[in-house]
Amino acid sequence: MRAFLGVILLFSSFISVPVFSQTLGDPQIMFKQANEHFVKGEYNEAIVTYDNILEIAPNNISTLKMKAIALSNSGYHEKSLKEFFKILQYQPDDVTALTGMGIGFGNLGEYQEAKYYFEEAAKRKPDSVVINNYKEFTDKVIAKYPYSATEKPDRLEKKETIKIPDWVKPVAKWWSEGQIEDVEFASALLYMIENKIIQIPPVETKSEKVEKIPDWIRNNASWWAENAINDQDFVSGIQYMVEKGIIVINIKKSQDEIQKEKDYDFYLFEKYLHSISKNVADEKRYIEYPNPSQDVIKKFLRDYIKWNFEEEVKSASSNFPDPTYEIIDDVYVIHYKVFVNEQPTGLPLNHVSTLQNSFLFWKNQELSTNGQKARMEFEITNQKQDANVWVTWVVRDIGQGVLGHAHLGKGVVEVTLGDYNCDGSFQLYDVKTVEKIMTHELGHSIGLAHVSDPNNIMYPSLKPNYAYCLLG
Ligand SMILES: [Zn+2]
Repeated sequence: MRAFLGVILLFSSFISVPVFSQTLGDPQIMFKQANEHFVKGEYNEAIVTYDNILEIAPNNISTLKMKAIALSNSGYHEKSLKEFFKILQYQPDDVTALTGMGIGFGNLGEYQEAKYYFEEAAKRKPDSVVINNYKEFTDKVIAKYPYSATEKPDRLEKKETIKIPDWVKPVAKWWSEGQIEDVEFASALLYMIENKIIQIPPVETKSEKVEKIPDWIRNNASWWAENAINDQDFVSGIQYMVEKGIIVINIKKSQDEIQKEKDYDFYLFEKYLHSISKNVADEKRYIEYPNPSQDVIKKFLRDYIKWNFEEEVKSASSNFPDPTYEIIDDVYVIHYKVFVNEQPTGLPLNHVSTLQNSFLFWKNQELSTNGQKARMEFEITNQKQDANVWVTWVVRDIGQGVLGHAHLGKGVVEVTLGDYNCDGSFQLYDVKTVEKIMTHELGHSIGLAHVSDPNNIMYPSLKPNYAYCLLG
């Protein structure tokens, strides 16, 4: 069998550029320039430009977001939290900002607060691997490190359960049955909006008149009055109507007043962050960071000598013994002995168990060798000298965009666990991505070359997903 290095490459990802309405100073070009620094991890340079954009287009959500992530990656957790907070003041459902808040509070050791935000993010994007990894983190860390939560101003207390006064229900019922006019129902809504029982996001409502209220909204109100749906569902229906301009409510508060309240909330939030920092310092609070990526790469580089990769990879595959085989019913059954290296320290993701999935994948494939049917069997050995294949997970840079490589037929399999391409900092891949790379590389180990079908595991490139990256 030839000694050959099979590599798998990555598809790079892009950060989308928002459309700015202003032309002054061309924020769009500035945004691109800032992002060029950002992706190289030159966060200070990027932040200067994001700030310049924010002077032209204050509260531009995309810019605030990039700035917040840059601050977080630079270790400015409080500053990052303030930017995420601002985003949520305008877009309370923004999943990146909610997750960013969780990361920020986690980085300050306020784990209950972190948990709240990760849960809110998960409600809006339940399938997100990143959010679920963070949720798992907070659950573990809260059990491990008890701490006393920093006192929070009442005004900032989240309304987790919306409490609607009892008298609103009959009003909703009558309205749903057409017994009272929209105006009367609207005045009940106005009461709730002004008392912050219902939050209406500051979206511009459409001015054109909508003649008919959709049936589902009346149904919604009627179900709610009969306790068939909860307050949250009812409120969502109302929010929809106000946003679409189906119900026009003359909110007496001016935009100025609303802005003043936002500013006051922001001031309280800054004070709250200040008390957290003070507590962290006073308690000498031990903090476990929600994103383990930096820790993994730091420890890995520190112990680099121990792993001795260069030597291992340099040793040609001919130094490895050939796998044994037997012929059963005209099928070659090839036995691979695999030595599995330790995982890098500090890694919370378990790739040893997914390695079994990669074995299983190849075991179930019908392959051929020398024109004969072949089947693969894998066995893990702890004797390196007996191994036909040596599997290891690395976080070192094994080449621009290279996700892994393997000798063909037998020898070393190296799989990368993360890279710098998500947000300019080292970020770990998720378990599925590592498993895919591993399966691909193992394919080379058992002698397979690349194929041109993008759906085949032996296709030469792959877009990795990240385990903790906010931009992933
Ligand atoms: Zn390959």
